[in-house]
Order: sequence, then C-alpha cells, then structure tokens
Amino acid sequence: MWIKGKIYYNKEITEGCINFDRKIKDIRKDCRPDIMFPDYTVIFPGSIDIHVHTRGLELSYKETVTSATSEAVYGGITTIFDMPNTKPVLNNSKTILEKFREFENYSRCDYGLYSGVTTDKTVENLPIAGYKVFPEDLDKKEELQFVFNSIKLKILHPELPLSTNQFRNLRSLWQELASLYLVKGHFHITHATNIETIRLAKSLGFTTDFTPHHLIVNGEKDCLSKVNPPIRDFTERRKLLNALFEADTVVSDHAPHSNKEKSLPYELCSPGIAGISFTTPFIYSLAKKGIISYNRAVELLAENPAKIIGLTKYGEIKEGNVANFTIVDFSKNWKYHTEYTKVVETPLDYYPLDISIYSTIVEGKIAYDGNEVYPIRGVNAIESSKSEF
Ligand SMILES: [Zn+2]
Repeated sequence: MWIKGKIYYNKEITEGCINFDRKIKDIRKDCRPDIMFPDYTVIFPGSIDIHVHTRGLELSYKETVTSATSEAVYGGITTIFDMPNTKPVLNNSKTILEKFREFENYSRCDYGLYSGVTTDKTVENLPIAGYKVFPEDLDKKEELQFVFNSIKLKILHPELPLSTNQFRNLRSLWQELASLYLVKGHFHITHATNIETIRLAKSLGFTTDFTPHHLIVNGEKDCLSKVNPPIRDFTERRKLLNALFEADTVVSDHAPHSNKEKSLPYELCSPGIAGISFTTPFIYSLAKKGIISYNRAVELLAENPAKIIGLTKYGEIKEGNVANFTIVDFSKNWKYHTEYTKVVETPLDYYPLDISIYSTIVEGKIAYDGNEVYPIRGVNAIESSKSEF
C-alpha cells in the first residue's frame, strides 16, 4: 500500500510517499497513493510505551489485553511493554507463556513482556524484553543476583523496599535516590518523580523515563491521583519539567484498577493512573506549542524507547522497519478522556491537548482511524525485531 502526506523522515517533516505491507518497502518523493493524508496531518514513527500494566489473567476484571491495547492505539501507541505483577505473577515459563498467548490472540498493537525477578533459568530463554525489579525485590538476594547476571534489560521501580511498608507521606525522595545504588548493569530507571533521580541515574550509566502525571497532576489529593511512587510537591514537579529535555523516554505507567478498588477510603484504595492514551498527544502538543522540538518529541516517543529495549526495526520511518505509524492531526484540539480502557476516570481527564490522533497503523494495518479501533493483531516486537523477511 502506498500512502502520501507529510512524513517525519530523516529528522525532518517533509512531503513524501511510503510503500509498505508489514514492513516499510519504499520511501519516495512522489507516487500515486492508495491513501492520501490531509496536509494538516503528519505521519510519525509509531509511539512505543515501555511501561504498561495490561493486567489480564485473573486481574481481567481491572483490564484486559484487548481493552488496554485498544486504548493504546486510540492514543497513537503502536507498541507496548507489559509489567509482570499480575495474578499469577509472571516469573516462570508457564505463566509467561500463558500471558504471551493472551497477547497473541488479543493484542491490537505490538507488544513485549517483562518477567518478574526469578531463579527459573528457563525464563531467560523466552522471547521476553527483560525483567522488572520492584522495590521489595531489592531484598531478594538470590533472585536479584540471577537478574544481575542476565544481559537482558532490567527496569527498576526506584524506591527502597521499606518505602512500600510505611505511611505514604514518608516515601521521600532520598529513598528513590538511594535505591539506584542497589543495582548494577543494564538497568533502566522508570517513573522518576524528580529531576535528581534522572541526573543520578544518568551519572551511573542508566537510562531513564518520566510519566506525564508526575509532571502535571496537581499533587496527590484523593484515590484518583493516588499513584506509586507518589506525585511530588509543586517545586519538585516544576523542576521535573527538565525531564522533557534530559530523560530518555516518557511512559504512561498505565495502571488500571476497578471502580470498586478506587472507591475505597484513601488509605485503602489501590494506587495507579490509567492514561496510556494521554502520553502521545501530550508530547506532540508540547511540540506544537514550541516547548520541545519535533525531533525531541520523536526521540521521547519512538526512537529512544526502541533503543532502550534494543528493537532494531522500530522507532524510525525507514526502509526495512516495521510499518508502525502514529498519524497526528494538527488541526483539531482535544479535551482528553479515555475511551476503551475499563477505567472511566483519570486525573488527566479534560486536560486540553492541542492535537489529536488522526490514525494509528500497526504492522501495516489501520488499528485506529479516528473513529474506531479495529481488531487487528500485533506481534511480539522482540521476535519481530530479530526476524528477517
Ligand atoms: Zn508500573
């Protein structure tokens, strides 16, 4: 299929044509296109979110692979990486393979999976993206040594083990910083709540990300805005704006819970914000406003996450890469709201966005056309990045 329009190609927005099936076959200046995109849209490389909780399995009452990945493509995300703290926990071959089957059957975008920390050697041979290390895992000596020995990527939730067993107002910044000294090797530090975490992580040789909610949600006031690690005060949030220029990527940490779990008293309600569809329009809105450049926006949303995971055929529009595109509409504002996730309320609701998602293409197929999400099938990005065809 040939498409024509404004394309983000070679770090510039230029007129051109792309020919693709599942992979990009040809890029040219001119063609007779099958689809012509209007001149107020730009075709960007597909956004990649490396921190998502699709839940599923026994937690399907909170969210499923179908509902989470539908919400993803509605928000312009074409590839997600899923966290292992499900029920049962994904830290052995049996449950990981079961979770892969859910994705194979129901995922509407490309995907990857992290395992939890483990001592199960068979996990290392599975096509996983790496391991997720939670604060409490930092106390598990044997499992920690096992993942330190693996060359695969490790994602750290940076807080000390004690952080999770104390009052929320005591989960302070130093606990986030201190946790970085407890890990070594190929680590990525996720959802930094403050700029010092990002700077320290970089100086230790790690890559980093931040979430939109740690930047813009106005403090933790209720169950809706309750999230781990906690949203910091105004001064820290203002300094975290530097993450737009200093962090490697941006993630949603999409963490859905049921209405019932979010309606419990503040002390008991589950922490988590489900805004997977917010990240891409938020970052491109900042680019439209001139706060960051388009190069930087694409770096945060596509190029860098592909590099962090080690995906060779993702993150850039170029011949031979997977045909994943996020097509942005620069003519239409959008008051943010979720549509396909099981979570109907987030603290990001009604946030004014300066752009909207025109269309999302996954594996060469239209996954979202501005009105509807289609039941296309994504693939394991780790495998598809390796295969030659
Ligand atoms: Zn998370």
